Amino acid sequence: MWMFKLPTQIIFGSNSVANLGDCADRFGAKKMLVTDSFLLGLPQTRKIIAQLGDISVFSDVQPNPTVVNVDALCERLKHESTELVIALGGGSSIDCAKAAAALVKSGESSIRAFHSGGQKFGLECLPLIAVPTTAGTGSEVTPFAVLDDTEKQFKGPLASDLFYPKLAIIDPELTCSAPLKVTAATALDALSHSIEGYWSKNHQPICDLLAMEAAKNIFTHLGNVLMNPCDKTGREALSYAALIAGMAFQLPKNAIMHACSFPLSNRFHLPHGTACAFTMEGAIRLNAPHMGGRMETFARYCGFENLETMIGKISELKRLGRLPCTLKEAGIDQEQIDVLIQESFHPLMNNNPKTVTRDDLWKIYSELGE
Ligand code: NAD
Repeated sequence: MWMFKLPTQIIFGSNSVANLGDCADRFGAKKMLVTDSFLLGLPQTRKIIAQLGDISVFSDVQPNPTVVNVDALCERLKHESTELVIALGGGSSIDCAKAAAALVKSGESSIRAFHSGGQKFGLECLPLIAVPTTAGTGSEVTPFAVLDDTEKQFKGPLASDLFYPKLAIIDPELTCSAPLKVTAATALDALSHSIEGYWSKNHQPICDLLAMEAAKNIFTHLGNVLMNPCDKTGREALSYAALIAGMAFQLPKNAIMHACSFPLSNRFHLPHGTACAFTMEGAIRLNAPHMGGRMETFARYCGFENLETMIGKISELKRLGRLPCTLKEAGIDQEQIDVLIQESFHPLMNNNPKTVTRDDLWKIYSELGE
């Protein structure tokens, strides 16, 4: 038995952001655009703001958004009686907007009540339109917001059906300005979603198909886009892949690579996608023998002769995107492997097809030291 759902309406295509004004007007007059300060300065953002007319802007979103960012945005939404939230940016802006749009209707003043306080949301939130500028997180179609509570030293995903955006407008042209490392890290984040959704204990047939198709697109196009950032066909394929990879993991949920990504990004400050990609080759080699040949099927679907060839391609893409491939390149000492292992046992690890032991993680991390 399995189920699939996706309450988010999707508009996809080159220049589709031109529809944003008309779509936004359907939801209410008082709108707020949520983005980060770097994106706010880009000409493409200025053009979108001009198109939206009378709109407030909140641009205090940090990469890996914090509970403080969410609470500050919530205050603004309340103060301005906002009726519609538009998130323009990578996963950080979208996640911050999702959490604040739900918080503002919850009666609480801090997202901490839900993030670490165990409270559950009610049924109401402000409508949200998500417009991604990276091809990676799939946050435009997931019920998650990953938040960092720096004071409590706790970063993790918060989940609620209220977080599904009402509408996602995916315009691949918005991703063309992303620099090499952001392009590589976000595409490998999408690849990690496809692989984790596919091997999660809760995997199911629709998500499996979406996962394989997403990975095939990434393997076919990422190398070209890294060498030619203006490759429009490639950018479109990566945005499509990130979208369907988001759909592929949002129900089965992630596993080992994401569990390991938390200490890698919290303690060693690797960007999210870079952290997910760091253990990818080792995680595939660990899980494949426990998947009854499914991982070999995945590799063949993506056009590889065998699994090792696919793993080799992953390493090649990481090198091409100048992402760290060894502990040293990631700024981690061999002596820190113990703490990495200790902090990698996040609950997402329980979705992994193989029960992960300390020895398994020791092997993965120590091989990255060679
Ligand atoms: P991001 O939003 O943190 O952005 C990274 C950097 O890239 C920022 O400096 C940003 O200004 C810049 N940038 C973004 N788009 C750009 C563009 N078009 N041109 C130039 N620069 C651009 O990066 P991200 O990887 O998209 O999001 C990461 C966050 O999303 C993390 O907090 C992660 O945990 C979270 N995440 C959420 C989900 C989910 O389902 N909600 C899934 C995966 C990851």
